[in-house]
Amino acid sequence: MRHYTLIAPAKINLYLEIIGDRPDGYHELVMILQSIDLADQIDIQASSTDAIRVRCNHPQVPTDKSNLAYRAAELMATEFPDAYAKYGGVDITITKRIPIAAGLAGGSTNAAAVLVGIDLLWNLGLTQSELEELGAILGSDVPFCVAGGTAIATGRGEQLSPLPSLDTIYIVLAKYRSLEVSTPWAYKTYRQEFGSSYLTDKDSLAARANAVHSGTMVKAILHKDAREIAQKLHNDLEKVVLPAYPQVLQLRETFANQEGVLGTMMSGSGPTVFALCESKQQAEQLQLHVREAIPDQDLELFVTQLITHGIKVR
Ligand code: ATP
Repeated sequence: MRHYTLIAPAKINLYLEIIGDRPDGYHELVMILQSIDLADQIDIQASSTDAIRVRCNHPQVPTDKSNLAYRAAELMATEFPDAYAKYGGVDITITKRIPIAAGLAGGSTNAAAVLVGIDLLWNLGLTQSELEELGAILGSDVPFCVAGGTAIATGRGEQLSPLPSLDTIYIVLAKYRSLEVSTPWAYKTYRQEFGSSYLTDKDSLAARANAVHSGTMVKAILHKDAREIAQKLHNDLEKVVLPAYPQVLQLRETFANQEGVLGTMMSGSGPTVFALCESKQQAEQLQLHVREAIPDQDLELFVTQLITHGIKVR
């Protein structure tokens, strides 16, 4: 029985700007997405029946059709009916390490891994852009998760333009286990509070996206300048999440006041907060200091680093 083990890394947002509304109900975004060395493992193998089955070691992750990995397999079966008829169903086992509902694209990277895994299992020979197009049907963050690394994402996040990869920067991630922020709530609240300032015409939206392309954050990435990258971190969603979630605000402030922190920001719609550090040693020191400052067992802390890739076969 053929079997593949895939490594599915999480992402953080180095930059997230909301620039307008879209006719499809989503927001027009300009983001800089970055893969990190905190990953789930996805094992995928052909099953002896035509069923799609998902197992996961994390009790809060659904294993039914609402799991994004299940939906990725279902999409492949619909798109490639001949291969599905020939090879049958798949058994998917998710070993979760990425915190869930954390703004780290955990579900999206699992879905991307299933697309890559089934492409291999069914000998489809899909290109990266074909996999990304399939990913966009499943969710805005899925296309990025396929190749990962560092990229500018526009539209609703599915239009990608790769940037030179960053890898030698370390980060500390912090998330309260029991705290979840709903992504739809964050975007809806942002629209209610800031919708009147949205750009509306196509030319202004394109000009804003171009300004980020040629802006200071991209320059800092091109120069691999960790200090400058840390100075330019930006996330519009902090404007609605920090006032509504005092624990996230406290994390953000605790990080900002520690030695060795180049910069700190909330990832995506939160509630994960990350801090950039120049070395692994500094990141480990920071982890200890934050643990001392907030001795709450509900707080999870991870030391990890930026990486240059998305889904990998092990
Ligand atoms: P994003 O950054 O893309 O908004 P996230 O990291 O905030 O994603 P996920 O970890 O993907 O959020 O989980 C959001 C919700 O999706 C969870 O509460 C969970 O019920 C559901 N979910 C569905 N499939 C998965 C999966 N494979 N892994 C984790 N959660 C999943």
